[in-house]
Amino acid sequence: MPQPFRFDNSYARELDGFYVAWQPAKAPAPKLLHLNRALADELGLAQDARHPEAAAALFAGNLVPEGASPIAQAYAGHQFGVFSPQLGDGRALRLGEVGDRDGRRRDVAFKGSGRTPFSRGGDGKAGIGPMLREVLVGEGMHALGVPTTRALAVVATGEPVFRDTGMQPGAVLTRVASSHLRVGTFQFFAARNDVAKVRQLADYAIARHDPALAGTPEPYLGLLHAVARRQAALIAQWMNVGFIHGVMNTDNMTISGETIDYGPCAFMEAYDPGAVFSSIDQQGRYAYANQPPIARWNLARLAECLLPLIDDDADRSVAKAMEVIDGFPQWFDAALLRGQRSKLGLRTERPEDADLAMDWLALLESQQLDITLAWRRLADVAEGRDASLRDELVDRAAGDAWLERWKARCAAEDGDPADRARAMRSVNPLVIPRNHRVEEALEAAAEHDDLAPFERLLAALQRPYEAVPGAERYAEPAPREVTANYRTFCGT
Ligand code: AMP
Ligand code: MG
Repeated sequence: MPQPFRFDNSYARELDGFYVAWQPAKAPAPKLLHLNRALADELGLAQDARHPEAAAALFAGNLVPEGASPIAQAYAGHQFGVFSPQLGDGRALRLGEVGDRDGRRRDVAFKGSGRTPFSRGGDGKAGIGPMLREVLVGEGMHALGVPTTRALAVVATGEPVFRDTGMQPGAVLTRVASSHLRVGTFQFFAARNDVAKVRQLADYAIARHDPALAGTPEPYLGLLHAVARRQAALIAQWMNVGFIHGVMNTDNMTISGETIDYGPCAFMEAYDPGAVFSSIDQQGRYAYANQPPIARWNLARLAECLLPLIDDDADRSVAKAMEVIDGFPQWFDAALLRGQRSKLGLRTERPEDADLAMDWLALLESQQLDITLAWRRLADVAEGRDASLRDELVDRAAGDAWLERWKARCAAEDGDPADRARAMRSVNPLVIPRNHRVEEALEAAAEHDDLAPFERLLAALQRPYEAVPGAERYAEPAPREVTANYRTFCGT
């Protein structure tokens, strides 16, 4: 196939020994289910590659295009706290890197394209349910302004896959990422005591994500700091939209600060800090409220890998790394509060704002309010329409007491109520990828070959802040018993 993308494969070229060159499995009957045209434009995908048949062949991995350099990347990782020295791309394959319209380097990779040398017992395949789920949740996150890998295409392979949850049509997802460098990529070489390779990887990461650090006195400490700052900002955004990643293993934490690996993730409905949906997370390690401390724990694992590079003196190295790791909670709190202030409609900063936000969340918890709709309805209150929120309150007195404080705080800023409400609606979404709507769309696709519900939901998720007539059903929470019994799976 002629070049559908202008590839420039720096990883394959510069990081010999960090991957295995490999080819995707051939799909017997590829059929294009989804192509993200806006993202294809960003990446400069050639027009003739967008034709359904050409796109199916390309994004199934059947025709490896000129200029691609497919590789399975090596990585390790702590899974639920237990270190596994060799994970790697067992069902993924990186096709290559593409310079996008804005001059950014982006990885283009398959998920579900067959076995690789890292597959261990797995089949290297994926089902259409989990792959379409990654499109819905990932693109939903993107529309919410949360940094994330993107979904470019999904192709049905024409071959079934077998899972505990039953048989499913097979599919390949094409994922686009700022890079696929993970904490686990560093761990792979650190665990082998290969300091030269850790340094080579760190230099590559710096060139790719933090070029301003190159040539500074402490570039590796700077890298740790930059990753920690990005993760603090990312996790704060997750928390503010009620996102639960579900499997924050160190191999699922990026250096770029993008959300990666939409496996057992889910959105919270009634506010509950202990919320867990993943069927395999029995201890609640990756519960909603544990995400910030887990991110810090993961960053400490990255710090361990970088210690030999940070300072020649081991004690000084540890002290410097610890200072960064100990900084994480403050950076996270500051990022969270920044987001909360804008969600509260506040333009100025006051010392009491953190308590105001915390007490709001306590109110949501005690009243079991839907996190998304509660924030959204607060915008109505800003305009003097209190009923939409007050009607949801079981304990009116507690709600009114908080609302009085918030109104007083707003009154201390000048500004027109309608402007405040508008600003709040531009940051407090109406539509998020609700679990029951996602499942409904996936069931129609996987079991009835009907992609219409998927497409309608995706369209709604792409306009999360707008009250689109006809899209009301996507804003509604699931019945409580549905959410109480909802379980997610890794999709492996
Ligand atoms: P994940 O839970 O998706 O982050 O995956 C953890 C590890 O398991 C990674 O090394 C994956 O490549 C590997 N893996 C997951 N599913 C499969 C599969 N179906 N076949 C082979 N390897 C897999
Ligand atoms: Mg993973």
